[in-house]
Amino acid sequence: MTVIGHLINGEIRTDATRLQDVFNPATGEASRQVALAAKSTVEEAIAAAQAAYPAWRDTPPAKRARIMFRFKELLEANADKICQLIGEEHGKIGHDAAGELQRGIENVEYACGAPELLKGEYSKNVGPAVDSWSDFQPLGVVAGITPFNFPAMVPLWMYPMAIACGNTFVLKPSERDPSSTLFIAELLQEAGLPAGVLNVVNGDKEAVDTLLYDNRIKAVSFVGSTPIAEYIYSTANAQGKRCQALGGAKNHAIVMPDADMDNAVAQLLGAAFGSSGERCMALSVAVAVGDEAGDTLVAKMKEAMQDLNVGAYSDSSNDFGPVITRAHQQKVNGYIDSAEQDGASVVVDGRNPQVKGYENGFFVGATLIDGVTPEMVSYKEEIFGPVLQVMRVNTLQEAMDLIDAHEYGNGTCIFTRDGEAARYFSDNIQVGMVGINIPLPVPVSYHSFGGWKRSLFGDLHAYGPDSVRFYTKRKTVTQRWPASGIQEKAQFAFPSEG
Ligand code: NAD
Repeated sequence: MTVIGHLINGEIRTDATRLQDVFNPATGEASRQVALAAKSTVEEAIAAAQAAYPAWRDTPPAKRARIMFRFKELLEANADKICQLIGEEHGKIGHDAAGELQRGIENVEYACGAPELLKGEYSKNVGPAVDSWSDFQPLGVVAGITPFNFPAMVPLWMYPMAIACGNTFVLKPSERDPSSTLFIAELLQEAGLPAGVLNVVNGDKEAVDTLLYDNRIKAVSFVGSTPIAEYIYSTANAQGKRCQALGGAKNHAIVMPDADMDNAVAQLLGAAFGSSGERCMALSVAVAVGDEAGDTLVAKMKEAMQDLNVGAYSDSSNDFGPVITRAHQQKVNGYIDSAEQDGASVVVDGRNPQVKGYENGFFVGATLIDGVTPEMVSYKEEIFGPVLQVMRVNTLQEAMDLIDAHEYGNGTCIFTRDGEAARYFSDNIQVGMVGINIPLPVPVSYHSFGGWKRSLFGDLHAYGPDSVRFYTKRKTVTQRWPASGIQEKAQFAFPSEG
C-alpha cells in the first residue's frame, strides 16, 4: 500500500515508526497509509526550516513573489489531479473540490502582492532632521496545523503569505486526507522554492506537540475543532509563541417573514448540505421568525431535499459525498438520535442511506430536524454533518439573542428584503462573518477570515491583511543626520518633536 510521507528539506521521506490507514470514505476501504512523524522527524523539519531561514529572509520580496506566481500556474495546471486526490481521501464531489482549490489559489494570488504589502510606513521630519519608518520583518520559522475538511485550501491560507513575508514554514496537515496537501507542497518546490523553506510533516499529537514546545518555532497558525484550538492557543502562548487558533462553529441563518422563501431554500440547501456539512461555515441552524415563516420553510425544504443526491466524489451529478470516517458517521447519526430523543421531529431522515455500489461508504443523507430548542445537545454542539436544524422565534431580536448566546460565533446570515433589519443585524450580531442574503459569507482573499467568541483564539484573523501582520513583526526605526559642525547639548526632557 502507498505510504504518504513528509517533505523535509525538499525531499519526500517516508520514515515513520507508526503508520495509519487513510480511507476512501466513499468505499469505506483503506486505500493508502500515512507516516506519522516521530518527534525526531519533526525536529529535522524544524532544523531544515531554520537553516533555510537566513537566505530566504534576505531574498527580495519580488523574487519570493515570482515563485508564488509560478506556484499559482502549477496549481491551475494540476487542478484535476488535486481534486482527484481530495475526492479519494476527503470524499467531496469534484465541483466542490474545484471550488475549494480556487479559494486556495486566491490566497496564493494575494501572496503575489508581497512586495506591495511589505512596503512599510514612512514619515519624514518627525522632528528636526529626523525621519522614521516602520518595517515588517519576518518572524523566523513558523508552523501551521490544519484540519481534514479543506486539505487544499486551509494550508493555502497559511504558508503562501508566511513564506512571501520571508518566514520559513513547517506544516502539519490532517492525517486523515494528507495526499492533496503534500502534492501541493511539492508543486511549490517545483515552482522554485528553495529546499527547507516549506516542510510538511504528517503526523498526530506527537508531531503537534513537538512543534508547540520547540523554541525555534516562533508562531503557530491552527485551524480545527475548538477543544484542540484552545489547547494549541494556551500551550503556544505559554511557550512564548504568537498564535492564532481557529475553532469550530454553529452557524445560524435567520429567515425573516419577508424573505424570498424560494431563494432562501435554494441557498440553505447548498450551505447546509454542501460538502456534507463538513464546513466551518456550513449553515447548521435555520431560525425562522414567526410560525408562518417556519412552516413554509420546513415544507419547502422537505420538498426540495427529495432531489438531493448523496454519493461518491467521482459522479459530478451528486450534490455531496460521504463524511470523513466511520466514527464520524456514527457521531452524526448519534446527534440525530439525540435530537429525536429530546423531542425534536426528524422531518427528513438521512440516517443510513443506501448508496448503490457504495454500501460500505461513510454516508449520511441530508437531514432536516424541526422543533429544536436551545437546551438540546444537538443544538449546543457542532454536528459537522449534513443536518439542518430548524428553530422558531417571534422576533428578529429573539433570533439575535439566540445566536449571541451560543458559544460559537463563526458565521451567520439573514434572509430578508428589509434593509433596516439587515443593517441592525449586521451591526449588532456577535459573530465574525455575516451574510445578508449570502449563506456562506467566506471573505475573499483580500479580506481576512475569522470568527468571534470560541470560534477563534487570538487577535488576528486568517489570510488577507491580518496575515501580513500575523507573519511579521513591526520594527520602527528613527534616524537623524544632524548637519556637521552643530554642537549638540544633552537633552533631559523626554524627546518630543520640538
Ligand atoms: P481536529 O481539531 O480534530 O484536527 C485539527 C488538527 O489538529 C489536525 O491536524 C489534527 O492532527 C490535530 N489534532 C487533533 N487532535 C489533536 C490533539 N489532541 N493534540 C494536538 N493536535 C491534535 O479538527 P478536524 O476534525 O480535522 O476538522 C474539523 C474541525 O475544524 C471542525 O470543528 C471545524 O469547524 C473546524 N474548522 C474550523 C475552521 C475555521 O476557520 N474556524 C475551518 C475549517 C475547519
